[in-house]
Amino acid sequence: MSIISVLTPYPVDKAYDYVLPPHMTAGVGSYVTVPLGAREVVGVVFGAGEGKTDPAKLKAVLAVHDLPPLSDQHRQFVDWVASYNMMPRGMALKLTLSVPDITKPEKLALGYRRSARPEDIEGIKPLYQKLWSLASEDKPEKASELARRAGVGVGVLKTLVRQGYLEAASLPAQMPCVHPDPYRSGAVLSPDQKKAADILLSSSAKPILLDGVTGSGKTEVYFEAVAHCLKQGKQVLILLPEIALSNAFLDRFQSRFGCAPALWHSSVSASRRKTTWRGVARGECKVIVGARSALFLPYANLGLIIVDEEHDPAYKQEEGGFYHARDMAVVRGHLSKIPVILVSATPSLETMHNVWANKYTHVTLPDRYAGASLPDIKIIDLTKDKPERQRFISPMLKQALADTLSAGGQSLLFLNRRGYAPLTLCRTCGHRLECPRCSAWLIEHRSSSKLHCHHCGYHAPIPPTCPACGDKDSLVACGPGVERIFDEVTSYFPSARIDILSSDTATTHDDLKEKLSNIRDHRLDIIIGTQIIAKGHHFPKLTCVGVVDADLGLSGGELRATERTYQLLHQVAGRAGRAQEKGTVYLQTYQPGTGIMKALSAHDRDGFLSLEAKARETSHMPPYSRLAGLILSGRTEAIVRSAAQALARSAPHASGLRVLGPAEAPMFRLRGQYRFRLLVQADKNIDLQKMLKHWLSGHKLPGAVRLQVDIDPQSFS
Ligand code: ADP
Ligand code: ZN
Repeated sequence: MSIISVLTPYPVDKAYDYVLPPHMTAGVGSYVTVPLGAREVVGVVFGAGEGKTDPAKLKAVLAVHDLPPLSDQHRQFVDWVASYNMMPRGMALKLTLSVPDITKPEKLALGYRRSARPEDIEGIKPLYQKLWSLASEDKPEKASELARRAGVGVGVLKTLVRQGYLEAASLPAQMPCVHPDPYRSGAVLSPDQKKAADILLSSSAKPILLDGVTGSGKTEVYFEAVAHCLKQGKQVLILLPEIALSNAFLDRFQSRFGCAPALWHSSVSASRRKTTWRGVARGECKVIVGARSALFLPYANLGLIIVDEEHDPAYKQEEGGFYHARDMAVVRGHLSKIPVILVSATPSLETMHNVWANKYTHVTLPDRYAGASLPDIKIIDLTKDKPERQRFISPMLKQALADTLSAGGQSLLFLNRRGYAPLTLCRTCGHRLECPRCSAWLIEHRSSSKLHCHHCGYHAPIPPTCPACGDKDSLVACGPGVERIFDEVTSYFPSARIDILSSDTATTHDDLKEKLSNIRDHRLDIIIGTQIIAKGHHFPKLTCVGVVDADLGLSGGELRATERTYQLLHQVAGRAGRAQEKGTVYLQTYQPGTGIMKALSAHDRDGFLSLEAKARETSHMPPYSRLAGLILSGRTEAIVRSAAQALARSAPHASGLRVLGPAEAPMFRLRGQYRFRLLVQADKNIDLQKMLKHWLSGHKLPGAVRLQVDIDPQSFS
């Protein structure tokens, strides 16, 4: 009788021993069903049992499943993710076992094929004969398909089935991306692109940064690496930050490889995900394009990972277990000894730091493809070129919109703010309308005539009187959101075709697709968009881009505010003039003299990065030190506050280590929870996780307080 150690996808660190009954065989990596408390759960064998418990007291494995075992590298990856991010190992395994019922084979749809012997068919109606002759002898076909081809109704088909001429059989599973064709010819690469692709192919032990301006052909270049990997029969993972927005990418993939990739993100249906999960585990699905969670699929034979837009904040998972998918992708590549390609026009400072330290190979694409030139970037000083009262478009930007319109071009106004106004204020008493559950202002949305909280989803009608002083008609909207800019622009250009593109106006995939095609095919003159528009889209007619508030992301003082603003504005600017006509970008700012505005207008990305690096080094911040955020939350303010203070008092004293706080979090209240933060800052040579583990395991928190550990925090709210 053997004893095995099984890790289950629950928030526990430990794998438990179970007895494997003699009639079962299970090796390391096998998927098994085991009893856990009152439940029966699917877990993974992580090794031989410890044998500390009397075998008579151990529970027995209930079933061993017919799935390829989870690879050694993947199990190492689970352990690594858990210990780096300080999550229980079971939570890290849960990222892999994220699909319900993975152990049950897919339910296959039924199709129909011939069953009768040919001599039986002579006597029946010609209509039936036709249907029968069209049916295949071996391959089943969907009833509706077969009936359509024969020009009969499904009812006729069913009659033939009843009479025994046709029979039902399972259709093969609709597994996505089984036969992508790496030998189809791709784009003819320019000499620079070819050079870059060659470096990607000459497999390197180090991760690679593929760095090129927007429109330089980075996608075409990394498709060569995808093809190369497919030729070796291996699987490829392409991570994208917002996969739901990536229709154009998927079309390009399809035309390059002759089939769609397997998609993996939150809006893929559960049954589709199950099929894909099993296909990935069996090595049948060859290319997976997905959001961060796709990194944890049980690849049979992964040969390459690409992280597109590697700088994107969406790679950081901040709910449930915290982890950074880009960083974990690098680890996964290292454990499996496979190439990892990070792709960006505006690499993160972390990644550049690794390039400078020679830990990453740097591959650059210096120019836009086919001689398309970079847009001119003009700074509009709002202190001089003032918009009218209660308006937000400066005279210069208004003129640019008018000129573009009369020249038959297209313009984009970028404002990363949904709704009509970010703040509603009482003119009489100064009261600001806040969310009752969060430390956040309520955002007016004219489209729904309501006030919304963007953090918790609370919404309420706009009150007729001020809730504080009761004054009538005293509430005023302050500041612009995209809806307000829409009104302003419509008043200037009443006959222009104008539309808003934000997550409120494009709620479904199809809405978004339609809106994007309206832009691409020039059915719109002016688009007002949030960051949804900034990503990767290619709009050939777009020549004028106006950034309504270039300072927006800079307030608030978060560590990466400047870096993020640079990346976002650069990306928005990159939408302009991607085809033959040159584009112009206008940045409206109250701080025209700052380093970031100067760097943007001079296209001096490297200058910006070295300024930013210097600032981080001076303040001893990442990537020149390490950070961990500790977030305490609970329903009762006083309890959370005193728990946070007690935790800070128990902090270890060590040189090279600083514990800051506790402080009320910027989002002090979130969904009714009170939140306090501590920030741990450590020199790079300190084993931060080990230190934290020691500290936190020796400290007892009140039951009503929850502690979350955020290693390498991106957000400090
Ligand atoms: P990036 O990913 O760097 O922004 P893309 O790969 O999207 O750049 O390329 C920008 C545009 O130029 C796309 O429309 C792409 O099809 C086109 N393009 C890039 N390289 C080539 C090439 N070698 N041949 C044909 N078209 C190309
Ligand atoms: Zn709220």
